[in-house]
Amino acid sequence: MLAPPWISVPPPGYGGVEWVVSALTEALVARGHAVTLFCAPGSASTAEVVTLLDVPHPDEIERSLYEVDHVARAFEAIEAASAGDRFDVIHDHCGFTALAMADRIGTPIVHTLHGQFTPSTAAFYTRHGHKAVLVGISRAQLAAAPPSLGVFETIPNPIDVRAWPLREYKDDYLLWIGRMTPEKGPHRAIAAARAAGVPLVLAGVIQPGQQAFFDSEVAPHIDGDRVRFAGEVGGAPKHALFAGARALLMPIRWEEPFGMVMVEAMACGTPVIAFAEGAARELVVDGTTGYLVADEQAMAAAVSRLSGIAPRDCRRWVAMHCDVDVVASAYERIYRSVALCTPATVASA
Ligand code: UDP
Repeated sequence: MLAPPWISVPPPGYGGVEWVVSALTEALVARGHAVTLFCAPGSASTAEVVTLLDVPHPDEIERSLYEVDHVARAFEAIEAASAGDRFDVIHDHCGFTALAMADRIGTPIVHTLHGQFTPSTAAFYTRHGHKAVLVGISRAQLAAAPPSLGVFETIPNPIDVRAWPLREYKDDYLLWIGRMTPEKGPHRAIAAARAAGVPLVLAGVIQPGQQAFFDSEVAPHIDGDRVRFAGEVGGAPKHALFAGARALLMPIRWEEPFGMVMVEAMACGTPVIAFAEGAARELVVDGTTGYLVADEQAMAAAVSRLSGIAPRDCRRWVAMHCDVDVVASAYERIYRSVALCTPATVASA
């Protein structure tokens, strides 16, 4: 399992890909696989943990210096494995380097597409995609893929549903949690919560480059009462925040390829009110696990319909579609085919 070099696995707080890698790795070990996790320092797992760089790099995400160094060291370690310990498959979650270099290593690679297709990443995948078996995480994500791309399957991101608390009786607040960027929409969540007349809790990280947006669009509304800012949260306080909320607000304005916070909320029996963009259209079943709406006014109106959503239905839906056991079984099938044939054969099968 090749995790990125940026944040430890599991992450202390923010870290979408790292939570995915953690849940999947633990499930694979529990199912009897021998898994080595190549990851950032500070990581912990029941798999064999191999850290490659000296420190994590949470403020330098996508900086090639660290990604290349991390992947080159992982490839060296993988190639150095003695005959009896040879790896059957590399599952790559780590940006672009391993995929671009996948034809330079003898071990087959399964590459999970974690990002959105943009013109530049589409060109990258057109050039290098044939070197691994590609797995997408939503239909919305793959709708923007170059048509020539041999994507093998769509498998949702996993969540260990049993690790999240179901709470049926909620406190009187709405939740927004994520990165402080315009496309994630904390400022629209503030407008919607205000229009609904319900207090809002905001939680999340302010990553490099996001401070100016936070200062101008979010900070002026924080009053510690109607709009509270919890900062970056993790562990039990994060679970409690998700479980206690009347709903998670997802006023996104981008083709979000997945959105872990939506399945985390639903695992706690917390409905999601989302703009009908990206994978929200697949993860939110309108009227069952939340509501899909067009704008802030419609989001506020949906708050008054929350009694129509049963917390147990939210959890049941996530358990059925995204639980880590379901996801691990799907990946096992891919690992088996990849270990038996070359990536090119599998992709064209
Ligand atoms: N997260 C967290 N603490 C925070 C903010 C976010 O632990 O203060 C986690 C959140 O629970 C989720 C991940 O970071 O697991 C964000 O993943 P998501 O797919 O929602 O967003 P993205 O990867 O686009 O940032």
